[in-house]
Amino acid sequence: MHGSVSLTPGKTCKDCGQSFEITQDDLAFYGQVSPVFNGKKEIIPPPNLCPDCRQQRRLSFCNEFNLYPGICGLCKKRTLTQFSPNSGIPYYCRECWHSDRWDTLLYGRDVDFKRPFFGQLRELKVSVPSLALDVQGELQNCDFVHYAGSSKNSYLIMHADFCEDCMYGYGFKHNRSCVDGFYNLKCELLYDCVDCHSSYGLIHCQDCINCHSSAFLRDCIGCKSCFLCAGLRNKEHCFENEQLSKEEYEKRVQTIDLRSFAQYQKCAARRRKIEKNHPFKEFHGHNTENCSGDYLVNCKDTYASFDCENVERAKFCYQVVTGAKNLYDIYQYGLNFQESLECTISGENSYHLLFTLGGNVSCSDLLYCWYMENSKNCFGCVNMTHKSYCILNKQYTKEEYEHLAPKIIGYMRRTKEWGEFLPSPLSLFGYNKTSAQVYYPLSEKEVHMKGWKWDQEESPAPEVKRTIDAAQLPDNQKDVPDDILNWAIRCEVTGRPFKIQAQELAFYRQNNLPIPRRHWYQRHLDRFHMRNPRRFWKRVCAKCAKGIETTYSPERPETVYCESCYLKEVY
Ligand SMILES: [Zn+2]
Ligand SMILES: [Zn+2]
Ligand SMILES: [Zn+2]
Repeated sequence: MHGSVSLTPGKTCKDCGQSFEITQDDLAFYGQVSPVFNGKKEIIPPPNLCPDCRQQRRLSFCNEFNLYPGICGLCKKRTLTQFSPNSGIPYYCRECWHSDRWDTLLYGRDVDFKRPFFGQLRELKVSVPSLALDVQGELQNCDFVHYAGSSKNSYLIMHADFCEDCMYGYGFKHNRSCVDGFYNLKCELLYDCVDCHSSYGLIHCQDCINCHSSAFLRDCIGCKSCFLCAGLRNKEHCFENEQLSKEEYEKRVQTIDLRSFAQYQKCAARRRKIEKNHPFKEFHGHNTENCSGDYLVNCKDTYASFDCENVERAKFCYQVVTGAKNLYDIYQYGLNFQESLECTISGENSYHLLFTLGGNVSCSDLLYCWYMENSKNCFGCVNMTHKSYCILNKQYTKEEYEHLAPKIIGYMRRTKEWGEFLPSPLSLFGYNKTSAQVYYPLSEKEVHMKGWKWDQEESPAPEVKRTIDAAQLPDNQKDVPDDILNWAIRCEVTGRPFKIQAQELAFYRQNNLPIPRRHWYQRHLDRFHMRNPRRFWKRVCAKCAKGIETTYSPERPETVYCESCYLKEVY
């Protein structure tokens, strides 16, 4: 794992003051994706912020988890929305937004060459109705999903595509009947799993591939009918890493009733103990070639990137999947996404997007756009589908567009906006409601000192006839009456009340699982904290003492090996 050599002197980040490097490869990439108008290339300058500050700025525009009951501005039907009631942002339900009962071009306006461009873009964004939730593709019975697409019968899945019968998942791709998970790909019947791929029938497993009918595994591959094990390869009937006969294994497992919340917690705690005795590889992932970062799967020439799968030639990319290449500074999501720089939540057959938030479904050559579908050659446009040659939502001819676009770029060079992503104060969301708060937590005071927004408004509590404390729940799920569907449970950590859905209760009953005692968002955070941070530390391999760079900080209890020592140990 290594990056490219720096040939240019370090730069100082205009936000945090840290120095960072810009390599010749970086400069070549900025040149390669710089837009061309009338045969003249408008060069994108190298960034002024360090990679972390750039990522924080992008994340400050993404509200992935705070959803509110609302009313569609057009049909007046109830709809779930990402915009808090006090935000004043107009929004339509998905059906109305895609209908011909309104025209996004009616909001079009001229560029004012006397005021900063970004302010004009934001004014436009808050006047044109947005999609209540960011969803794409065919969705059936998925009224409560966000940043998701092409799924069926699913509930509260985010950063998710091609799922069926899934609930409370983040980073779910091609899953069926998975509940409570973080980064599960091509899985079926998983509960409470983190970073498991191509697996079936797992409970509370982490970093597992091709495993099935197992529970409480960590870092196992190709295992079947195993319980409470770590670091195993192609094993069957192991219990606490001990090989048992089929009969002995079944006898041991039968004594454990995972419908009991106390038993489940005991097993989870036991797993944490067992995995501490087992060496960890310096990074997570597999099939990587010439990469640096963590949680990378099937990636090539991908640097300083995290949570990517099937990505080639990329840098500073986060949560990008499948068929993505030639990308820099992208937060989510991929699906055949190419030649793009500084975007959030973009992809799906999209090409050459620059400084764009939400460029979806066959978009190409967009600059500074803010939620677009199926559109090409647009500059500073918001909330449009099937449009081309528009600037600030005003229609131009191709010739007019190619004449005006470089003029705006020249103007943005003077206002020092060209080459910058939108600044955080222009976000539609309070900093604390965005993914920036998860990765770069700040206090309310710190947020105000930076001139950013903080949002006090909470999603309302569910309307129920009865709310009980989590501790009042019977220990065993079998003792919980159906009437629980009419109650709310007060989260044992945050006190935030949450409801159990009928589909969810059926899943717990069919699979002999306990009733959760934490709000779904707290459970998501719990899983988030089971993963390593997006930060590197220098350590030495605990076996050969070779220097390594790893996301395991030196004070952590895990034993960390370099890749080659690790492979010698487990295979
Ligand atoms: Zn910085
Ligand atoms: Zn509507
Ligand atoms: Zn080693």
